[in-house]
Amino acid sequence: MNLPTKTPLSEALRLLIGQGVDAIDTPALVLDLDAMKRNLARMAEFAKKHDIRWRPHAKMHKSSALAKLQMQAGAVGVCVQKTAEAEAMVAGGVTNVYISNEVIAPHKLARVAALSHMLAAERGQLAIAVDSAEGVARLAQAMNERRAATGIPAVIDVFVELDVGQGRCGVAPGQAAVALAHEVRKHPALRFAGLQAYQGKAQHLRSPQERRDAIASVVQDAETTRKLIEREGIAVDLVTGAGTGSFVLEAASGVFGELQAGSFLFMDGDYAKNERDPAQPQFEHALFVKTQVMSAAGGHVVCDAGHKCHAIDSGMPTVYSFGSEPELEYFNGGDEHGILRRARPGAELPALGRTLWLIPGHCDPTVNLHDTMIGVTGGLKAGKVERIIRVDARGALT
Ligand code: PLP
Ligand code: MN
Repeated sequence: MNLPTKTPLSEALRLLIGQGVDAIDTPALVLDLDAMKRNLARMAEFAKKHDIRWRPHAKMHKSSALAKLQMQAGAVGVCVQKTAEAEAMVAGGVTNVYISNEVIAPHKLARVAALSHMLAAERGQLAIAVDSAEGVARLAQAMNERRAATGIPAVIDVFVELDVGQGRCGVAPGQAAVALAHEVRKHPALRFAGLQAYQGKAQHLRSPQERRDAIASVVQDAETTRKLIEREGIAVDLVTGAGTGSFVLEAASGVFGELQAGSFLFMDGDYAKNERDPAQPQFEHALFVKTQVMSAAGGHVVCDAGHKCHAIDSGMPTVYSFGSEPELEYFNGGDEHGILRRARPGAELPALGRTLWLIPGHCDPTVNLHDTMIGVTGGLKAGKVERIIRVDARGALT
């Protein structure tokens, strides 16, 4: 099978390594590697302390290099949402990948089966979610065809996805999931690996109490369903789910065995608006858009980063302040412009040419707008470019 190949980094990017942050042209997506590593260490420590597996979501960073860094820190593997993302991860050397989503088109399932066989030959593992008998049958057919073609008896791990309140994918908790577990077990090339119970809507509920209430119901649904399946003599090895807003609750549930949180690594403006659960580690912003003031003709200033640089589905970026109080507020100026106004009376507007740092509202779709992230150590003021990180699953939408 053909996996995606890497294009060489541009000369300009290669020359940037070792230079000071001032040398980074604007606008650019910049990763504070020190902050990111602290976030990573905090999650690793949390998982260890609570004796739970973690499989961070790589749809967030879309980088095989960062996926491998997470696995070196103790993650069992990564989640992805798309077949093409899984291919990019495997091409970059990641050996344990879970497509935490449904795949239904036969030509895509043929790629899933090929990937599963490729990983099996390398002692790796691929897993996938299902929420229909038709999906199970199509997956089994693709796996059987690949088995016949290669002679490799690969087995793919299959999680039955429950709709635990998001109203997105997943079967209803209870008997529908039992029936689907039976379907999976009919096929020797599929292994029923457990349940996926991810509640996306609960992640951004602002108060810890609201999130506690939402996840209590998730835990109950997952536990009831697990017991029903076990009553049929079928082992439920793992319940997987959770995001950055709720993972402390799933970890404490005694029902979940694996955490899928992804955004904690970079943190974004939207997650910063959540009131933190005291049990949750304190994560720092690690992802920034470097921008500069390009016009100051009006009673406001304009920077060179518009929404081609950062996603605005979760609100406008926050202007990072090195002091305590935000000085500036960002307003949408279109594709290539950001309008900055005083956030409080008396605040000073930055001069023409001044560098500013934006914290994106939502990290996942922001990263997908860029080919690379510029990794900096030593801080945003006086740090240096240490490495260039490719967004190698950028645009991997199929
Ligand atoms: N698991 C699944 C299935 C998801 O869809 C997501 C994000 O949307 C996550 C985990 C990770 O969530 P977050 O990046 O908010 O931590
Ligand atoms: Mn997200």
